[in-house]
Amino acid sequence: MKGKRITKKDLLDALKKFLKDELALLIAFERDNKAFKIRAYKKDVPDICLFNPVYEANTAIYLRRIFSEDFKILCIFRPCEARAYVELTKLTQVESRSVICGSVDCFGTVSSKLDNIVFPENPQDLKSFLENSKNLRYACMTCRLKNGVFGDFGLRIDSDWNLWVIPYTGKANVLYELISSAESDLPREFLENQERNGQVFQSSLDEFKRDFDKCIMCLNCRDICPVCYCVDCVFNNDEYLPKGDALINSILRSNDAQIPKNKEMYHFIRMYHVSQTCVGCGGCEEACPQGIPLTKYYKGISERLSGLFDYVSGRDFEEKIPYTTFREDELPNADD
Ligand code: SF4
Ligand code: SF4
Ligand code: SF4
Repeated sequence: MKGKRITKKDLLDALKKFLKDELALLIAFERDNKAFKIRAYKKDVPDICLFNPVYEANTAIYLRRIFSEDFKILCIFRPCEARAYVELTKLTQVESRSVICGSVDCFGTVSSKLDNIVFPENPQDLKSFLENSKNLRYACMTCRLKNGVFGDFGLRIDSDWNLWVIPYTGKANVLYELISSAESDLPREFLENQERNGQVFQSSLDEFKRDFDKCIMCLNCRDICPVCYCVDCVFNNDEYLPKGDALINSILRSNDAQIPKNKEMYHFIRMYHVSQTCVGCGGCEEACPQGIPLTKYYKGISERLSGLFDYVSGRDFEEKIPYTTFREDELPNADD
């Protein structure tokens, strides 16, 4: 595999050229003094922030239901965001012909709920600042896929702090060909596999009930999850989350009940739905007003299934989600 060693200026120059196309858009992070934001650029881009240390939401959610075919939307995302985009292409929730989505090496992130943290601007200082931070989110502390190796192209940092752009699919040429630097072999360290093994979180039902006791069923965790996409979600009606007369009827049919009713059922069904596509980004936990440690449960289930089916969400555009395929011999030890 080859790539181009570039400077940040080379990248910006290429992005500016890319935006000269009438139908081109760029989605990337910006740093405005102390604040970090996601921004869409149409005609020009003064600067971008490659390493955003503050996590608000999984940016791939904003690509969901882009069905227009005429645009060229270039995205520079974190690895967990590019992986969510890849899953959305398989779930036909985005028109992938319009989107060119790359991933950039990630140093980890802190919650956007924390303020008053001043982050260094220099990437080397930022990396060591985050490595020594006690505020890293659980998702990032346990992340084993933080290299920019996902999506259509990667922006990677080598051990001498050079920036590289690496095409992974043909669509990356939209950017790659605008960069005049010479192509060369990649540093050896880029060819090494990312460490995937590690402890997978498991819990008891008692622990689950304790952790989810505070859930108020606001559904934020569903609404912000990039891969929880059903338009006709079963929790939009009164059957699973009864209210009003539906609640009274349900209690008359069964017994006295804790309100809101069926919150465990809500999380079990949601966990089942995203169990193979969850990218462990922690966006659900970030959106939870009750501080419930959602990531360890959702990511835990996804990692257990990942081991079982040798499937990594967002690793490859061509790899089929296990629940969309059937292989007679895939679970030889399962009971009938
Ligand atoms: S989960 Fe991984 S890729 Fe996503 S922000 Fe955290 S460290 Fe980066
Ligand atoms: S369930 Fe949570 S951790 Fe998993 S993809 Fe959705 S928002 Fe991210
Ligand atoms: S965001 Fe938190 S409180 Fe709201 S439904 Fe999800 S777990 Fe419950």
